[in-house]
Amino acid sequence: MSLPPGPAPPRAQNGGGAGWHSLATEQALGRLGAAPAGLTRGEAARRLSEHGPNTLPAAAPRSAFRRFLAQFNHLLIQVLIAAAAITGVLGYFKDAIVILSVVLVNATVAFVQEGRAEQALNAIRDMLSPHASVLRDGARITVDAADLVPGDVVLLEPGERVPADLRLLRARGLRVEEAALTGESVPVDKTSDPVAADAPLADRTSMAFSGTLVAAGQGMGVVVATGPATEIGRISGMIGAVQTLTTPLLRQMNLFARRLTGIILGLAVLIFAFAWLFRGFGAEEAFMAVVGIAVASIPEGLPAVMTITLAIGVRRMAARNAIVRQLPAVETLGAVSVICSDKTGTLTRNEMAVAVIDSDFGRFEVSGSGYAPGGSVALAGETPGPAALALLQELAQGVALCNDAALREQPDGGWTVAGDPMEGAMLAFAARAGLAPETARLRHPRRDEIPFDSRHRYMATLHAGHDAAFVCVKGAPERVLAMCAAVRREDGTAPLDASAWRARAEALAADGLRVIAVATRADVPHGTDTLAPADIEGGLVLLGLLGLIDPPREEAIAAVAECQAAGIRVKMITGDHAATASAIARQVGLRGAGSVVTGAELDTLDDATLRVRVLESDVFARTSPEHKLRLVEALQAGGAVVAMTGDGVNDAPALKRADVGVAMGRKGTEAAKEAAEMVLADDNFATIAAAVRAGRTVYDNLTKTVTFLLPINGGEAMSIVLAILLGTQLPITPTQILWVNMVSSVALALTLAFEPTEPGTMRLPPRPADQPLLTGFVVWRIVFVSLLFFGCVFGMFKYATAQGLSVETARTMAVNTLVAAEVAYLFSVRYRHGASLTWRGMLGTRAVLLGVAAVIVLQLLFTYAEPMQVLFASRPLDPLGEGLPVLAVAVLIFALLEMEKLAIRCLRPLVVSAA
Ligand code: ADP
Ligand code: MG
Repeated sequence: MSLPPGPAPPRAQNGGGAGWHSLATEQALGRLGAAPAGLTRGEAARRLSEHGPNTLPAAAPRSAFRRFLAQFNHLLIQVLIAAAAITGVLGYFKDAIVILSVVLVNATVAFVQEGRAEQALNAIRDMLSPHASVLRDGARITVDAADLVPGDVVLLEPGERVPADLRLLRARGLRVEEAALTGESVPVDKTSDPVAADAPLADRTSMAFSGTLVAAGQGMGVVVATGPATEIGRISGMIGAVQTLTTPLLRQMNLFARRLTGIILGLAVLIFAFAWLFRGFGAEEAFMAVVGIAVASIPEGLPAVMTITLAIGVRRMAARNAIVRQLPAVETLGAVSVICSDKTGTLTRNEMAVAVIDSDFGRFEVSGSGYAPGGSVALAGETPGPAALALLQELAQGVALCNDAALREQPDGGWTVAGDPMEGAMLAFAARAGLAPETARLRHPRRDEIPFDSRHRYMATLHAGHDAAFVCVKGAPERVLAMCAAVRREDGTAPLDASAWRARAEALAADGLRVIAVATRADVPHGTDTLAPADIEGGLVLLGLLGLIDPPREEAIAAVAECQAAGIRVKMITGDHAATASAIARQVGLRGAGSVVTGAELDTLDDATLRVRVLESDVFARTSPEHKLRLVEALQAGGAVVAMTGDGVNDAPALKRADVGVAMGRKGTEAAKEAAEMVLADDNFATIAAAVRAGRTVYDNLTKTVTFLLPINGGEAMSIVLAILLGTQLPITPTQILWVNMVSSVALALTLAFEPTEPGTMRLPPRPADQPLLTGFVVWRIVFVSLLFFGCVFGMFKYATAQGLSVETARTMAVNTLVAAEVAYLFSVRYRHGASLTWRGMLGTRAVLLGVAAVIVLQLLFTYAEPMQVLFASRPLDPLGEGLPVLAVAVLIFALLEMEKLAIRCLRPLVVSAA
């Protein structure tokens, strides 16, 4: 359903403006069968079934067939297919069939796993589906944006995406960025005034269009079109394409694999010539040997295994409430060296409570638990007189009116807050002071407001009073005190001693309390219905200071300690008071809690000084979102890899700039989420720490996969090359190599994707951001193990032929030795840092046990099943005489690998001190 914004009704008599009961808006509502209080739930449900969900049809996913074909779009695979074709032409049909079927098996495994990975990503995207605030049955509720119907009355706030096409009923400083629709990135001012019916899209200022972004202000509008009927639906008709399953690291590895393939093919030609010309191989025989080299040295299974490792990491993070929006962030997370975190709600619980009130009558203490209305307010040391009680009432009314939250009683008797928890705490305080917030709101309806903004740090509302209108203001004490001229006294008002009150606010903040000043202005002329900042500047009467507790999260304290042990600096960036921030920082255990930098101080520092200052200090207070960007840039200039949290629309630039932008899933705006690489479903700092740990684990597991798979190729290639150079029989045939590479090795390597975090992972410093995957250590490991594997294959083959066994039996033993050595290596590679010969190490995980069991079954089939013997030219082994040596070699290999680790651990301090 869709309605054009016109025909323009005659201009409303009152000229539109802030009051939204204009003729035009009433007509808009009327046409849609809607009311200012919104639809009823029943009517909304009926319309939903009539109009369908408010979603755009998803882009058709790649067909399964196309996805399957894409598996063959790897150079490695194509080389194999070409090899199979030539092998077939040469008449080696069995070999051709084996090569092709192994390629098919590999493609199928990759296809299935990739499908699952894509599904996991889609599920994650669903977790981030947008919500909308609507009026239903007269109450403000949050619904899935997909459930909006024409006629719904929707509320707009900064940072949100407009969920459907809306005819605005009310707009207050509303600015909307319509780049998604018009390409114009400068926000457009919106009003509720009607425009001409034939106005072009960009000039329809009385409309807010689906998919555009609220940059500032607040608004309310009635839905005129949903889903495909919206303007954006008509243009695109589809939502974004599927994310590709890749990251810089995977690209780096794919490039490496492609280069390796090229080098191997070049070498293969040389060796072909050598074998043919100098070693008396026939052309066919030489070709088959060269196919063997190519097959042996190309890491066929590596790309698939790496993709799967990454996908499993993403799924694990999602299970821990860390939703990765951009896959590369998984890698970056492991390299994070600084985490900049919000305070309120991230490091603290955001379950606030008003604890004390400082007024001209002295300190009131508030008791009670949670948001329940039960509790009481007492004046410290004495019983409050009538004047003190009157002040308390005025304060309670002020915070109840200058407030957008609501408290609800749950079926289980508990109370929860809808809206800002701090405002909820103020409502609970009002109730404890004996005032019912609903009654106050009914008696003094709100005429206008200046919404809270973290840049001006206060909120003001205008209300109808008995004989005059009045204003209620609450906000940061410095800000509100600056607007006050007087303070409430027993006998009216007295001039304000601003510096004394600032000291009193400081005293409250030093206890870790969040301090809010409450003020009022009563002399506003009757009938005033607009409120501007200039109206309250300098004319306010201070009622008192509220001190709210917001205890730190237990798990945040542990997570901060974990991060700091892992060499990651944790910095708190908050809009709160310096003293409050410092007290909370001390409670959560931040290292640099003592030296606080304020936003005002930041503004005086030039970039060079800031770069130094930002390293010394861990607490930044009274900052505005713009400061976050400067802080990220300063940290990055010093070489740090920065994770930064944010929730508001103004945080988006800093989130984009940070290496890992982290948006809050609950209180975060759509704009912040879209700018972020990761979203915290629970807004909890501990989740960031968990994601870093998971990021390090994924990176470790990727490294382990590479370190595990490459030496197998190395050992095989060396065996074949040496055989050709010596002119002896190949110790292992190309088809057998394929079996090992694409069946046994992949089955074992996949278990590494499921490896849990190694103990000690969070006690090491973060990896340098520019560290290549193949570090010197990894390269050494690959070379060392390649030599070991080469020794296994070549040695076992020579040993077996020397025993007088047939070539086939000797090869079967060589293959089994190689796979047994792989199993031994798997156990060794699982612990990069520590010894593997531990109880825990030997027990393995479920994945490892399954993988090893599968490989044992596969090798038994390979050795004893007749069809396999036909395909792979394998022979049954005598368990004692031929099987036992194989196992003995595996045990020997494990011992050698452990000794190598020990040696490295002893040598490392020497190397480090020499460097
Ligand atoms: P934080 O980093 O703690 O989330 P904010 O930017 O939200 O900081 O808030 C900064 C300051 O603005 C607070 O310390 C408080 O003094 C004031 N403030 C916060 N929320 C409100 C509100 N809803 N109404 C009035 N003032 C507020
Ligand atoms: Mg806040």
